[in-house]
Amino acid sequence: MALIVHKYGGTSMGSVERIKNVAKRVAKWHKAGHKLVVVPSAMSGETNRLLGLAKEISAQPDPRELDAIAATGEQVSVGLLAIALREQGIEAVSYAGWQVPIKTDSAFTKARISDIEGTRVLADLDAGRVVVITGFQGIDPDGHVTTLGRGGSDTSAVAVAAALNAEECLIYTDVDGVYTTDPRVVDEARRLDKVTFEEMLEMASLGSKILQIRSVEFAGKYQVKTRVLSSLTDPMMSLDEEMCSGTLITFEEDEEMEKAVISGIAFQRDEAKITVRGVPDRPGIAYQILGPIADANIDVDMIIQNQSVDGKTDFTFTVPRGEYQRAMTLLQSNVKDHIAAADVLGDPKVSKVSVVGVGMRSHVGIASKAFRTLSEEGINIQLISTSEIKISVLIDEKYMELAVRALHKAFELDQA
Ligand code: ADP
Ligand code: ASP
Ligand code: MG
Repeated sequence: MALIVHKYGGTSMGSVERIKNVAKRVAKWHKAGHKLVVVPSAMSGETNRLLGLAKEISAQPDPRELDAIAATGEQVSVGLLAIALREQGIEAVSYAGWQVPIKTDSAFTKARISDIEGTRVLADLDAGRVVVITGFQGIDPDGHVTTLGRGGSDTSAVAVAAALNAEECLIYTDVDGVYTTDPRVVDEARRLDKVTFEEMLEMASLGSKILQIRSVEFAGKYQVKTRVLSSLTDPMMSLDEEMCSGTLITFEEDEEMEKAVISGIAFQRDEAKITVRGVPDRPGIAYQILGPIADANIDVDMIIQNQSVDGKTDFTFTVPRGEYQRAMTLLQSNVKDHIAAADVLGDPKVSKVSVVGVGMRSHVGIASKAFRTLSEEGINIQLISTSEIKISVLIDEKYMELAVRALHKAFELDQA
């Protein structure tokens, strides 16, 4: 008998029929003798709908209230799933994040989990109940409801699995695993049986929305055995078959994985680029530019600064497109008041495309092959950043899908 955590995403919970199927699958696992904790998302479209209501009332809604609203989507899901489980003859209990409690910091709309108290859940499991816990939400030290950022139910599930020392965390979604790239963009994308933790971390951080990055970080930190698989298969398929399906995130690289130089192409559609021109090249300037941005809790992604020739340089960085206006406003007043820079330019219509693979460490020529592929398609590269296992380029958003397809083909990711 093992303790297993299941996570079901929005599409998997998307209708009453789908919720009944989730309940059948969970009941099957429970009847096989396992202890089950289930972490569902809100029904698909629900979080957007809720946030949309707030935005209809205010252009800049208060983040605390946004979290109070958004958290209700998952609250409905847990209740419905617990009821569906009871219909399957399973004793089930639902909890909101604060009831567990799942403790977080106070960064509304993107809170981080600090601690999960497992006593109550473990007592229910010992009593033979299936425990259904809201994804995406927690409670801060002052008792306010928080949410973990879009896609945050993945993180809730893996964090719960880590806190309860679960044997495995199964992330059920609307595709049957992790692919070489988003199968909705490239038809030839191929499912990977295994992906290394490092590659998954890069892919998630570079925009693959299949898993929220913090869930991968938790999986790595606590060595949680995590598998991504489909919720849209026959819920009564055998457990053995289910356990071999999907994609396993592994913590060890085997020979086969080293042979594959590139494992995937990731992309981030909604980026924005900001350039501060004519910045005086002196100590402290990067901090002066980015400090206020960080203080405003805006995530900065790529940062590029060239060497100065005449004591002046250009400083470019990227932020999520949704934060573009806020970042520009902050920077413009900062430049005017404190930095003797020439001006601030921005482009909110850029995308980032990245080539990822652990095999890159031991192979040369990957970057030049990527650059040649993009040049053959006539795509201009605006920024480049690299690490040991990835190459990212920032390009005009209108070429994003073309770039992803061209790179997927050039690196022969369609071939097993
Ligand atoms: P859920 O609601 O289950 O959390 P998401 O929509 O958040 O599901 O994530 C699943 C989606 O991620 C898929 O439908 C797919 O379009 C997208 N995706 C992006 N990159 C990949 C990838 N490399 N492999 C598989 N799916 C991917
Ligand atoms: N419901 C939340 C969202 O739409 C969390 C999740 O689905 O993981 O982002
Ligand atoms: Mg998701």
